[in-house]
Amino acid sequence: MGYDTVYSAGAGLDDDVIQRLRSIIPDGVSTREADRVVYGKDYWPISLRWLLDGRLPALPDAVIWPETAEQIAGVMRLANTHGFPVIPYGEGSGVVGGTVPVKGGVMLDMRRMHDILFVDDQGLMARVQTGVNGMTLERELNRAGYTLGHIPQSLYCSSLGGWLACRAAGQFSTKYGKIEDMLIALEAVLPDGTIIRSREVPRTSTGPRVERLMLGSEGTLGVVTEATLKIWPYPERRALHAYTFDDIADALEATRHIMRKNVYPAVMRIYDEHETLRHFDMKHRCMLILIMEGDPDLVDLEEAIAARMCTRFNGKDMGTAPAERWLDTRFNVKESSEFTPRGFIFDTVEISVGWRTALETYRAVIEAMQRIPGVIVASGHASHFYPQGVCFYFTFGGLPRKQTPYDFYRAVWDAIMAACLEHEGSISHHHGIGLIRQPWLPDELDGRLHMLHRIKQALDPNRVMNPGKMGGDHD
Ligand SMILES: Cc1cc2nc3c(=O)[nH]c(=O)nc-3n(C[C@H](O)[C@H](O)[C@H](O)COP(=O)(O)OP(=O)(O)OC[C@H]3O[C@@H](n4cnc5c(N)ncnc54)[C@H](O)[C@@H]3O)c2cc1C
Repeated sequence: MGYDTVYSAGAGLDDDVIQRLRSIIPDGVSTREADRVVYGKDYWPISLRWLLDGRLPALPDAVIWPETAEQIAGVMRLANTHGFPVIPYGEGSGVVGGTVPVKGGVMLDMRRMHDILFVDDQGLMARVQTGVNGMTLERELNRAGYTLGHIPQSLYCSSLGGWLACRAAGQFSTKYGKIEDMLIALEAVLPDGTIIRSREVPRTSTGPRVERLMLGSEGTLGVVTEATLKIWPYPERRALHAYTFDDIADALEATRHIMRKNVYPAVMRIYDEHETLRHFDMKHRCMLILIMEGDPDLVDLEEAIAARMCTRFNGKDMGTAPAERWLDTRFNVKESSEFTPRGFIFDTVEISVGWRTALETYRAVIEAMQRIPGVIVASGHASHFYPQGVCFYFTFGGLPRKQTPYDFYRAVWDAIMAACLEHEGSISHHHGIGLIRQPWLPDELDGRLHMLHRIKQALDPNRVMNPGKMGGDHD
């Protein structure tokens, strides 16, 4: 696949199919060119590049805005009869090309299904429609005295459905977990129009939890319409801390030992020396940001243990100012939005790795990026932590020399993916596969890719759901 390809000018849906769609969703079908252009891309930098180069990205035939699971079921039945693609769409903040309609078809925008249906204080859970915007959900929960604890950097521009479909991770995930840890139950429409619902219970032993296939399915196995999520009482106290280290190795050891103590700060982030200079204006240091929150007694204890571990690995206490700065600027995406239109090729890549090879992997990826001619920025931070390992989030940027922007971009991705796989990492921690990661999927999944394709074949034999994704088309 060449990234300079413009994929599709639509699947060629005829007027009869559009009329049938209108009879299912009377006020929610558009074939206007302006809508089709807007929904032909997501936040994948390459789809933005297409637009900047004056070329239209892939075009869907129509955009629909359903209001009920039953309407979606009707659309899926129609899609199977007439053989057109359906691509679920949350807010289009995905950064890997997951919603790009590579074969045209119908973009199914979930935004009208945005209600918080039920909050169970006793059982600490909330049932929510998946088209809800992330910030709206968190604000509503905060008003009622709770938090979900899922705060991705894209909080303002992403939806619950997108989080589930991409296995998203928020900045406060070390304490509250990733989206899959928060999920209690869901409702989904399968590719053939069947509606499934699971029970709002903390655990089951009634066979594999097949509904969980929706997690990370990126719109290829069904449309998630409702989710019941764990919620928590709004934290009574929040403590901010920051430490700097001479070397990222010491900072990683401090955080690994915090985790070994079974202490889970809400936020832990280690910025390497390049990013510490960029974000905190401090040379030759690695910044660790720590935020603990919850019951005051618990926070006191976590602060004391974390301080002990940081001191043990030569961390220097920087007070609260860097963490305050981090909180104030955490939704800022100034760099990518300013530089991309000027021809600077820029992207971020997140991977996960066990502690055994963590430090080596970080170093190997940085070196691999720096080796590509034209790379100006090559940096990373550790953004999510486990007792077993860590997520590294790398940033690269540069100006291609003799290559096209697309070849330059692909060369840097190739280098990062190769270094990650060589060190036994996973090529994605939370952004997903979309279009960008397809080339390396067989290397990571091996026989599991075949298993996934068989599941896809069983659930979606006509391949109407988001075709061309999750390992591409296959026999
Ligand atoms: C500035 C910025 C910061 C970001 N920060 C983070 C971060 O901190 N953590 C993180 O995890 N990600 C982050 N992302 C990536 C992105 O926000 C996430 O991948 C998010 O989960 C996508 O949500 P969305 O609603 O925009 O989904 P979309 O982009 O609309 O869709 C993404 C995929 O999910 C599928 N999908 C959407 N809704 C449904 C549904 N209801 N049922 C089935 N499939 C569905 C789509 O078909 C597509 O394959 C960031 C992105 C940006 C631009």
